[in-house]
Amino acid sequence: MPIKGKDRKSLIPGLFLITLLYFSLGFVSILFGLLAGLCMAIPFILLSRYKKKVWCSTYCPRASLLMQTGTKRKTRAIGRQFSDGTLKKAMLWYFGLNLLFITGSTIQVASHNMASMEYIRLFIAIPLVPLPQLITIEAPPALLHLSYRLYSMMLSSTILGIALSRMYRPRIWCAICPVGSISNELLKKQR
Ligand code: SF4
Repeated sequence: MPIKGKDRKSLIPGLFLITLLYFSLGFVSILFGLLAGLCMAIPFILLSRYKKKVWCSTYCPRASLLMQTGTKRKTRAIGRQFSDGTLKKAMLWYFGLNLLFITGSTIQVASHNMASMEYIRLFIAIPLVPLPQLITIEAPPALLHLSYRLYSMMLSSTILGIALSRMYRPRIWCAICPVGSISNELLKKQR
């Protein structure tokens, strides 16, 4: 569900800079793309420690960014797909398949069965270009592949979140965010 006013106010100010820093660091070395693993792990570490969605209410840099990019004006009504679970399920499938492709292709690259894809690819299907690199670090092709895949996944979902924040309301992405959805399910199981 979209975050309500009380939670919105409790987000630490300025966290959106972390998101901007993450994407900027990709131009220093794409290996920084691996930090996406932390973004995915920390929400669940906090959830297991505090038994509530501390990440979502207080620390999420993406939510902070969406508060910056989101429309301030009254916009179109939110479609039923946001509340009936359709988009939430679609995003969970997309996220799951993405992680499966990332893992499978990285293993294939490491096993020398396929060439590493050292370029940005949006939404699994739209190939773009390699990022200019300020520092060139000699790294195994599988690690470069994994870095690009994680960076691409973060970039794709951020673009989608920003587009939705402009179309509907700032944190509408939170209604379908896979991390939020999985956190909700884990919390339900704990209760
Ligand atoms: S639902 Fe997703 S985007 Fe929203 S606060 Fe939680 S982790 Fe961040």
